[in-house]
Amino acid sequence: MKRSGDHVIGDQSPRKKKLRQSENAVGKSSRKARKMRRAALIVVDVQRDFCEGGALAAAYTLSLLEPLVNCIEAARRAGAMIVYTQDWHPENHSSFQENGGPWPMHCVANSQGAELMPPLRAEEGDVIIRKGVAVDGAGYSGFEGTGLAEKLRELKVERIGVSGIATEYCVRATALDGLQAGFETTVLADLIRAVNPKETPRVWRELKRAGAHIHTAAEWFASVGKS
Ligand SMILES: [Zn+2]
Repeated sequence: MKRSGDHVIGDQSPRKKKLRQSENAVGKSSRKARKMRRAALIVVDVQRDFCEGGALAAAYTLSLLEPLVNCIEAARRAGAMIVYTQDWHPENHSSFQENGGPWPMHCVANSQGAELMPPLRAEEGDVIIRKGVAVDGAGYSGFEGTGLAEKLRELKVERIGVSGIATEYCVRATALDGLQAGFETTVLADLIRAVNPKETPRVWRELKRAGAHIHTAAEWFASVGKS
């Protein structure tokens, strides 16, 4: 005997079909999500003072901004976390020349020079990491004393892409600490800038030996599972 509901063929079949389709879609996307593993794009120190015209500018930073913004937007769309690190020093920081350090005064907390370089800007849900906040310690790494590794684990991030400034200092230190903390780490070759570009090949060799991948942002996206 058929139940009364089974007679309403015109109503029931398309609905059933639709349900199956959406179940398939969910199944597919969750399989893909498992395969993708969560990624974070770390944007290291792209601040006014480290860009052309700033107190401690790296080389060719203006050519970094547009492709970096495109990468950040694509990473957001792909469901990656966006992490901005900012050098954020007290005025008497030990890395400043007047205090016996190697650098001109830069990225003083709350100063204009410490702001993210426009058009970069943080959006709701992005993670902002401020480093070098104590008087002592260079504060090169975004992981050093900032709680970033714990935060990423909390967000189920397994792989990181590292971009930003400067290749041989804060990008290098952040990538090495990311590896040390157990993240699959890719340095985005086209989205980093050095103070001295001659140093870049040496840094890449060192990072590769330490276990990092060196890829373009496009290659990284492909490996993350979303192009
Ligand atoms: Zn600094």
